[in-house]
Amino acid sequence: MSSPLNDIQFILHDVLDYRSHYAALGLDNTVDRDLLNMIMDEAHKFASSELQPINAAGDAGCTLQDGQVTTPPGFKEAYRKYIEGGWAGLCGEPRFGGQGMPETFGFLLEEICCTANMAWTMYPGLSRGCIAALAEHGSEEQKARFLPKLLTGEWTGTMCLTEPHAGSDVGLARTRAETAADGSYRISGTKIFISAGEHDMSDNIVHLVLARTPDAPAGTRGISMFVVPKFNDDGSRNALACGNIEEKMGIHGNATCELVFDQAVGHLVGEENKGMRYMFTMMNAARLAVGLQGISVAQAAFNRASEYAGERLQMRSLSGPKLPDQPADPILCHPDVRRLLLTQRAIIEGGRALVYYVAQLVEITSHTTDEQQQQQAQLQLDFLTPIAKALLTELGFESANHAVQVFGGHGFIRETGVEQFVRDLRITLLYEGTTGIQALDLVGRKMLGNQGAGLQAFGQMMLAVADECDADFAEFAGTLRQLHQDWGEISMNIGAKAMQDPEEVGAASVDYLFYSGYAVLAVFWAKIALAGARHDNAEYGSSKVDIARFYFARMLPRAEAHRQALESGAANLMQVNGLAFSA
Ligand SMILES: Cc1cc2nc3c(=O)[nH]c(=O)nc-3n(C[C@H](O)[C@H](O)[C@H](O)COP(=O)(O)OP(=O)(O)OC[C@H]3O[C@@H](n4cnc5c(N)ncnc54)[C@H](O)[C@@H]3O)c2cc1C
Repeated sequence: MSSPLNDIQFILHDVLDYRSHYAALGLDNTVDRDLLNMIMDEAHKFASSELQPINAAGDAGCTLQDGQVTTPPGFKEAYRKYIEGGWAGLCGEPRFGGQGMPETFGFLLEEICCTANMAWTMYPGLSRGCIAALAEHGSEEQKARFLPKLLTGEWTGTMCLTEPHAGSDVGLARTRAETAADGSYRISGTKIFISAGEHDMSDNIVHLVLARTPDAPAGTRGISMFVVPKFNDDGSRNALACGNIEEKMGIHGNATCELVFDQAVGHLVGEENKGMRYMFTMMNAARLAVGLQGISVAQAAFNRASEYAGERLQMRSLSGPKLPDQPADPILCHPDVRRLLLTQRAIIEGGRALVYYVAQLVEITSHTTDEQQQQQAQLQLDFLTPIAKALLTELGFESANHAVQVFGGHGFIRETGVEQFVRDLRITLLYEGTTGIQALDLVGRKMLGNQGAGLQAFGQMMLAVADECDADFAEFAGTLRQLHQDWGEISMNIGAKAMQDPEEVGAASVDYLFYSGYAVLAVFWAKIALAGARHDNAEYGSSKVDIARFYFARMLPRAEAHRQALESGAANLMQVNGLAFSA
């Protein structure tokens, strides 16, 4: 099902005022509202005609034979059209053949494609991360060698971190890199779960591999990054092979590969032992993209559920028949079905505003010349990235699950196609760092690690939105100010408790992330309400105000439950009789 362009445009133009944003960055000569809308329209046409029709069939999965992976029917052809349309280089540097569009354009493309077909969209998605890492950390020679083909899309990219014994703890990686006489390296080891690790859609695959040189220090401080192409410059096949593809719960159309490197030729990116830092370039962008996957697929599920709720006739409305000529009323008239649909919508649209706000921060950090603005944007970006990743995948998953609920038993049946959304989405809570790992990052590094500077930076925006709400949405203004105060106190208390017992950080982390996430979404729902009230189309605008009221009344109270849970401390987790954990 398609992305709702009107809702995307509403967030971009009415809620986040992209025109002023680009004008402030001096980018308004290159990009304007018409260009944004035109690219969105074209992306939408491509996604609805090429990607959406092959989504359900793609669920049959990829096949592996003699080391070669075949993607599902239509995937390769759709990718060829994607290349022909010039989509792969949309945000790439012009000197390497890219079109130099700001980062938001990439997020838009990703969202629109992902709503149509998440498994397919991961192939070019992985390339984008690879391009970002090489563009920032690769040598001029590596950029000239790899970026042009990645930006045409003739080649695709991967990120190879995970090993059987090294998942969240990448520092445990054992893949070796030995220097060769010509200055290159020979890479040996096994990487698992590598998305798009092998497939039949591109001429070459550029793997970014984390490995350790013989004398490297233990842990993440001894990890280096290497670029390891499937085919070498002379066209010879590099010494790496796909040993297996995983049977999975979802995203069957995307090949998840075991890659065995056996003295493969690799080229060091940047300096030895700095690989983790470089990989973070890729991972931070990827985390936002994964958060976006959460709400994109949730949107596809919502589209189906809202349509079904209007058509399916079951039982009478509590307040009397709505369709007396029919044997029953549409399920949309029942309060609980409306609750399910509004919850989905509040998650999707609030989440979309968060992602596009974060995209603006990315653009500010890369384009502004004002040092203070740059620093403030970076603080907010660092703080909001783990929240966007974990919250929007957790809630996106909840949202897709509600779509199944709207379909009743029919939602559980494959034929209706909504259960695929739930299965596809489930991975987003796991890869690029699980929810637990995002929460540790948020509390440990992004909050305590910088004495709450990120929270303070976002808090200023929160108070400014509260001030804007004073005139027409006084109830939101009061709530936002109270949240701002409580959030600061909760954060300080975690810091104080952590000084007595370090386990308090881990014990509070996921609840703190959810508390923060609901507070962040409250800010964006208040902004959406303000924009809705100003909207030219009064009916459209008032529907946004209604959803905002729903969010504040029925979803934001969840934050209080998380607060109580995190304030209950670590003892109820850490001082529990061991028998409680044995089966
Ligand atoms: C379909 C798929 C695609 C993938 N694609 C890629 C890819 O392209 N490239 C790549 O490199 N990897 C990829 N991965 C790997 C993925 O990133 C890892 O699976 C993920 O990071 C978690 O690692 P793990 O599975 O080893 O779990 P573990 O690290 O073993 O974690 C198990 C559980 O313990 C929890 N845990 C661990 N440590 C802590 C802690 N300190 N505090 C609290 N909780 C903790 C975790 O949250 C989790 O719940 C993919 C995985 C899948 C399934």
